[in-house]
Amino acid sequence: MITTKKCIELEDRYGARNYKPLDVVLTRGSGIWVEDVEGKKYMDFLAAYSAVNQGHCHPRLVKTVQEQAARLTLTSRAFRNDQLPLLAKELCELTGYEMMLPMNSGAEAVETAIKAARKWGYSVKGVARDRAEIIACEGNFHGRTVTIVSFSTEEQYKEGYGPLTHGFRIIPYGDAAALKAAINKNTVGFLVEPIQGESGVVVPREGFLREAADVCRQNNVLLIADEIQSGLGRTGTLFAYEHENVKPDIVVIGKALSGGMYPVSAVVSSREVLGVFKPGDHGSTYGGNPLACAVAREALKIILEENLVERSAELGKYLISRLRQIDSPYVDFYRGKGLWIGIVLKPEAGGARKFCEALQEEGILAKETHENVIRIAPPLIISKAEIDQALVIIKKVLTQI
Ligand SMILES: *Cc1c(COP(=O)(O)O)cnc(C)c1O
Repeated sequence: MITTKKCIELEDRYGARNYKPLDVVLTRGSGIWVEDVEGKKYMDFLAAYSAVNQGHCHPRLVKTVQEQAARLTLTSRAFRNDQLPLLAKELCELTGYEMMLPMNSGAEAVETAIKAARKWGYSVKGVARDRAEIIACEGNFHGRTVTIVSFSTEEQYKEGYGPLTHGFRIIPYGDAAALKAAINKNTVGFLVEPIQGESGVVVPREGFLREAADVCRQNNVLLIADEIQSGLGRTGTLFAYEHENVKPDIVVIGKALSGGMYPVSAVVSSREVLGVFKPGDHGSTYGGNPLACAVAREALKIILEENLVERSAELGKYLISRLRQIDSPYVDFYRGKGLWIGIVLKPEAGGARKFCEALQEEGILAKETHENVIRIAPPLIISKAEIDQALVIIKKVLTQI
């Protein structure tokens, strides 16, 4: 049996150091629980950045993977397969959009949305060649490709990767007036996370998305919602944009679309927008493969049939109200929606990392974001009893560290 120490040694020796993970080496998982190589069990309060909303190794997803893997996994889009059309129909019916385009990672789906918006700008809106602009927000996180980091406001994400991609403008998150002021005749899209995940579960001022949607509509600019982390139940609605009753022009979906089984992402939109792609304009060898599509179909069914959206709303309310009762000298405030909560620490708390390490010691895995925020995002299948169990530990760490 390999030890934690040995795994860390090997990974640090042979693996590029582009992450600084907690020193826990996991070997199995079930529901909200994961187990390390020494047999210690933890509650997973990160859920792989909300990719495992359905819980680890959900039996229905394991079965789907096994059956589809034994049947057909990859055809490429040179040929058709019998799972993609069903996923396309089911995802469009679920979201209320006319068309979908399948990719693998979230970043690829964001790239797809950027390409679609630009092409729409040239072919439908009439923007002059190579002049299209997309507006994004301060504190955004949309992935790690060169184009996407080109409009990140996190210096480290782009440092050393130039030359960067042009055609992006940044406005303060939550500022609809700044959005209006940033729009010009070349603006094709406004790319936004309805709640910013990587920035630390930042919930914008109420009404922001609604106003942004109005500004976009009045100016013939596409509202592009990146729901890769906020979507599929995390915030207590199927998509976070529903909290403000808006209908974005493009929605980008990923992470929980496969319940942690396999990278699957998608863009959904109207025929007017996704119709801009002609054969050969865009593609991906693995995008839309039958294994991915079978998994995504089942992952979506689980979210609906196990009422994960409603659970997230109810249990999220319960969890944040119980957290607010903890009298901690370190916590500034709590924010979030559904089972997605940021514990914002005071400057004098000395950073979130040591709290995450203390939580790990006590059997909860959570990850700090932006130095001073502990992100709480358990799988949505979590029970009230498990939340109560976690609250005892969180209270201990937030009061006794
Ligand atoms: C995780 C994430 C991405 C990138 O997804 P990858 O699968 O890591 O490429 C994009 N946008 C948001 C909001 C995310 O949380």
